[in-house]
Amino acid sequence: MAKIINVIKGTKDILPQDVGEWHRLEETALNVFSRYGYQEIRTPIFEATELFARGVGDTTDIVNKEMYTFEKSDRSLTLRPENTAGVVRSFIENGMSRLSAPVKLWYKGPMFRYERPQAGRQRQFHQVGVEMFGIKQPAADAEVILLAINYLKALGLNDLEVELNSLGCPKCREEYKAKIKEVLKPEFNNLCEDCQTRYEKNPLRLLDCKVESCQLIFNKPEIRDVIFSDFLCEECSEHYTQLKEYLDRANVKYVENKLLVRGLDYYNRTVFEIKSNNLGSQNAVCGGGRYDSLVKNLGGDDIPAIGWAMGMERLNALLPKVEPELLDGYIVSNSPTEAFALAEELRAEGKKVEFDLANKKFTKQLEKASKVARFALILGEDEIKANEVSVKNLETSEQKTVSRSDAAKMV
Ligand code: ATP
Ligand code: MG
Repeated sequence: MAKIINVIKGTKDILPQDVGEWHRLEETALNVFSRYGYQEIRTPIFEATELFARGVGDTTDIVNKEMYTFEKSDRSLTLRPENTAGVVRSFIENGMSRLSAPVKLWYKGPMFRYERPQAGRQRQFHQVGVEMFGIKQPAADAEVILLAINYLKALGLNDLEVELNSLGCPKCREEYKAKIKEVLKPEFNNLCEDCQTRYEKNPLRLLDCKVESCQLIFNKPEIRDVIFSDFLCEECSEHYTQLKEYLDRANVKYVENKLLVRGLDYYNRTVFEIKSNNLGSQNAVCGGGRYDSLVKNLGGDDIPAIGWAMGMERLNALLPKVEPELLDGYIVSNSPTEAFALAEELRAEGKKVEFDLANKKFTKQLEKASKVARFALILGEDEIKANEVSVKNLETSEQKTVSRSDAAKMV
């Protein structure tokens, strides 16, 4: 026998018995997001590597360790590790800055990161996300967060925690970064290897470190005082306060977390995550924030933006399974040509109908009907002669004979 070829580590088939869960996520997205005025955008799965280097940030783990990059005709290409950079590229390239603000876009699809596969972490995984362009006011931040919450609610997920923070703007954040570097200087040699790199390249990312020895350092009182100091300038502070007012007004519960900095480099001001207590260690279902300088950094106009992405595998892990739907009818007949014709008549009326293509015995067909359909549509010799169908409700066993043209109304 020929050797079997297996699926690649960190990737998964989505099998027919599971695809209903994915339709639920996608249909609910379309439904909820369109209420907020979002339109779907579909961008390519691979882009120029430089887009991610510039758009995600070359100090991030994603760009440094996790990208699937390949060469083709002397070009470096990368499978998208996330979709904000691609959406921003498309926004710029298609002149969407000329549209009246806000421009609201959503997407869904596979992303690729070379990470260690484990529960809730794959190498090909799926995200659904939104991006809003053109509004710098905190009402946009609040609306985008509410959209995330309402999407989760529409899916039936209520037991979630929203974490919120403000990273300030490049101006006030520079001072904060400098202070963090200063207070951590004596501890430099005790920091983990990653943090030693972050110290120079992006000191805020230190706060996100999960290594225990680093956490102990950050918790020393003199260091904690600096990390938890209020560094926001007046404008950033006002923006953050107003955002919280909007959220309070909408009765959104949130926890402020000063250590929430998020993995991507481009965020400013608002950052947030939504976590579930039912997911084990990979507990974040949604991450997002404001990225006012990204459009400009990628060569577009100076246009503010904010968005979020959710991991669809993690959403499915929190939701009950979707049972596969039964057929409307299964035709039971000794005449395969008549069964074939009736199936087509009913399908033309929008009904989900099957018949036995292999023409097995009548009793076998009945057995099958009771497993896969809500109704058995019996076409015996008498029915065929009289141009009728006997419709049997497989739940109640009630049976009724009707004219063939009425069959579609019965199932
Ligand atoms: P994490 O801290 O879990 O690695 P992240 O900060 O890398 O998350 P983002 O880049 O913000 O995540 O992506 C948003 C969401 O996408 C995450 O909250 C998570 O639900 C999901 N996600 C990210 N990476 C993976 C992965 N490798 N496999 C499955 N889902 C993922
Ligand atoms: Mg990650």
